[in-house]
Amino acid sequence: MKLNERGLLVVLSGPSGVGKGTVRKSLFSQKNHNYTFSVSMTTREKRPGEIEGKDYYFVSKDYFEKKIKEGGFLEYTYFCGNYYGTPLDKVEEALDSGKELILEIEVNGCRQVKEKMIDAVTIFIVPPSKEALYERLKKRGTESDYQIQERIAKANSEFPLAYQYDYIVVNDSIENAADRIRAIIRAEHAKTSRSIYKYYEMLGDTETHGQE
Ligand code: 5GP
Repeated sequence: MKLNERGLLVVLSGPSGVGKGTVRKSLFSQKNHNYTFSVSMTTREKRPGEIEGKDYYFVSKDYFEKKIKEGGFLEYTYFCGNYYGTPLDKVEEALDSGKELILEIEVNGCRQVKEKMIDAVTIFIVPPSKEALYERLKKRGTESDYQIQERIAKANSEFPLAYQYDYIVVNDSIENAADRIRAIIRAEHAKTSRSIYKYYEMLGDTETHGQE
């Protein structure tokens, strides 16, 4: 029996090119998963194969800035020349439905989420080595040489920020990384701080305990 019915807000973060997207897709490919993906909004151009409303909501700079003014984002950032943000409207809805809400965002956005939602579980995905990440960025073939260099520089500034996260997961293989994340989510649900009230309710005891 699960003692906590509310879903977790799980932030997958880490340098660009580390494989956050692939690991996330692996989590979602498992049968009977209980995850919802938070589709971000961005002003960057759509890459071949990306689907509007599934990978991102692709919008203009004007539209994005209007949404910032309206307070429409849980967090947002300006990353390598483009805006990226998590639309607020779906967040509470998804968590109340009991599903884990998975955000796949960079480090600046993760910091904002942790400030606003203290309960969020933050996971820093790291490559097995720096070189592995550089190779991945180069081989991906989705960015120009200039953009690759820009992302490598950004990654180098993000590597040391791992200490800000609840967990570090090495993406040595997609399945290993996804397994570790599933284990983290299971363990987080069992945390006393998340389940104690539900537990007392189950005992039929509505008094608050633990304050003596
Ligand atoms: P890409 O252009 O490679 O899709 O994304 C660039 C970076 O922005 C990646 O590290 C990605 O995880 C991050 N990102 C994607 N969506 C969001 C978002 O909504 N907020 C923030 N802060 N970062 C995001």
